[in-house]
Amino acid sequence: MLALALLIAVAALWALGKGDVVVALVLGALVLLTGRTVFRSYSVTKGPTGPAVDVEEQGKLLVYACEVCGEQLVLLRRGTDAPPRHCSEKMVLRHVDVPDRELN
Ligand SMILES: [Zn+2]
Repeated sequence: MLALALLIAVAALWALGKGDVVVALVLGALVLLTGRTVFRSYSVTKGPTGPAVDVEEQGKLLVYACEVCGEQLVLLRRGTDAPPRHCSEKMVLRHVDVPDRELN
């Protein structure tokens, strides 16, 4: 319905010799759509899903690993399901056996 009204308005403007107005409107709409598409990912970043909870898994450590440089981070408390980033990539969650020695 809205598209039809828009089409009629565009046709009317074109018929009245206002082609440049139509071109400007189309370009504006294109820029708007492109911008919204590009920046949408920034606004839908997953935030906290609730209060942070302790990670407890017998005999296992939850480790976030960077597959680019190999850095590993031990996850002790989980506040969100979104993985952290390292080297511009999302880190991968791994279940690693607890080493023999204690961690303190
Ligand atoms: Zn890295």
